[in-house]
Amino acid sequence: MEVLVIGAGLAGITSAWYLAQAGCKVTVVERQPGPGLETSFANGGQISISHPEPWANPSAPATILRWLGRKDAPLLFRLRADTDQWRWAAAFLRECLPGRSVRNTAAIASLALYSHQELQALRAVTGIEYESSEAGILHLFQSEREFRAASVRQKELEALGIRARTLTPDEAVTLEPALASLRPRLTGAMHGMDDESGNAHMFCTALAAKAQEAGVRFVFNARLYDYDMIRGRIRGIRLLDSDFRAGVLQADAFVVAAGSYSPALVKRFGERLPIYPVKGYSITAPIVDPERAPRHSLTDESRRVVCSRLGDMLRVAGTAELNGFDLSPNPTRSASIVKWLDEHLPGVADLERAEHWCGLRPATPSNVPLIGRTRIDNLYLNTGHGTLGWTLACGSGRALADIVTGQKPAPAFPFRT
Ligand SMILES: Cc1cc2nc3c(=O)[nH]c(=O)nc-3n(C[C@H](O)[C@H](O)[C@H](O)COP(=O)(O)OP(=O)(O)OC[C@H]3O[C@@H](n4cnc5c(N)ncnc54)[C@H](O)[C@@H]3O)c2cc1C
Repeated sequence: MEVLVIGAGLAGITSAWYLAQAGCKVTVVERQPGPGLETSFANGGQISISHPEPWANPSAPATILRWLGRKDAPLLFRLRADTDQWRWAAAFLRECLPGRSVRNTAAIASLALYSHQELQALRAVTGIEYESSEAGILHLFQSEREFRAASVRQKELEALGIRARTLTPDEAVTLEPALASLRPRLTGAMHGMDDESGNAHMFCTALAAKAQEAGVRFVFNARLYDYDMIRGRIRGIRLLDSDFRAGVLQADAFVVAAGSYSPALVKRFGERLPIYPVKGYSITAPIVDPERAPRHSLTDESRRVVCSRLGDMLRVAGTAELNGFDLSPNPTRSASIVKWLDEHLPGVADLERAEHWCGLRPATPSNVPLIGRTRIDNLYLNTGHGTLGWTLACGSGRALADIVTGQKPAPAFPFRT
């Protein structure tokens, strides 16, 4: 079977890899000049199995109300004359209901565990390197209330099959000496023992190279702008290259893995994907004091900031802004991440030489991605991974390949089959 994948981010590259492994002849079409150059470029680096809870949970509405009006709030909602944004916000509120939140958490946990298993297997088979670490994630708490909630959360994770342990501040510093200067502020920590971290862009580049060796063809600098249809099925896609030259590529099946831009690519078929771009920021700064740089990836639970050591760099990421497809940098939001690094790990990285970046998370209201069939017989989706596209990449790619090739995907997850 010939399959055409649209998008060469984490979702598209992993789809292409597993489709090729399943015996398909695969072509990937990407509008950028290489793999992983949009949202998969400089994310927080966390393979965060210990955080399956979506943003939409019963405590979210009160937290968001508390943050309203603060320009540096972890979540900023910029109201626009945009019905997609309003519809998404209303759906987000619905997903905060306790029953839905529990169901969404279980679905994400199941896919995350499966994805971890697939990532480990893929690493063993391909030997690819992407500045990965298996030390796990340390979730940091700075109020007694948060730490008490962590004990409940640890039991919930255990029930989902996810290994995590709570730590007193002293135990946390013993495990991660880089937290020493933070010790007075800490009320405790939780160690996600199944978690990992790694450079998503490096992973995309390395896996794309392996996929190419396995026969996958990449067409870069080419944008899908239309479809050729025959009797209700897609026969081919129409492309424009960077010089606006048009071309057509044909295949038996088509996979949309275009991140936040996926809804626009399937709207013409009557598919209304509940995906909205949620902008986030990161900085990547060279480590200047390796002894004091954390070995574990860190999550500051109250500031919603994550920090990962990627080789000799420190990546700090966070903030969420609902403001359409606007990718212009907002200095206040970028500054809040720089401030976090300066306050929490002072002198560890060179902030003057930090690279600033922002990207659009393709977020569904429930944070549950959309994987599987559409109402067009030979059109499939692997998109909507929101805050967890790196964590869920390998499991989603493998499951998508299973669905396209007529197999039943392994995890207990609401796939579109
Ligand atoms: C600040 C930040 C921090 C994050 N931290 C983490 C983290 O620590 N852990 C985690 O698990 N996740 C994290 N994420 C989320 C994760 O990065 C995303 O979910 C993931 O990158 C989405 O991958 P994707 O392949 O769906 O989208 P993308 O990487 O955006 O890929 C889609 C591709 O489709 C291409 N495309 C779009 N339209 C067309 C077209 N018409 N024709 C051709 N090509 C097209 C684009 O050019 C793009 O390359 C973070 C995100 C952000 C913004």
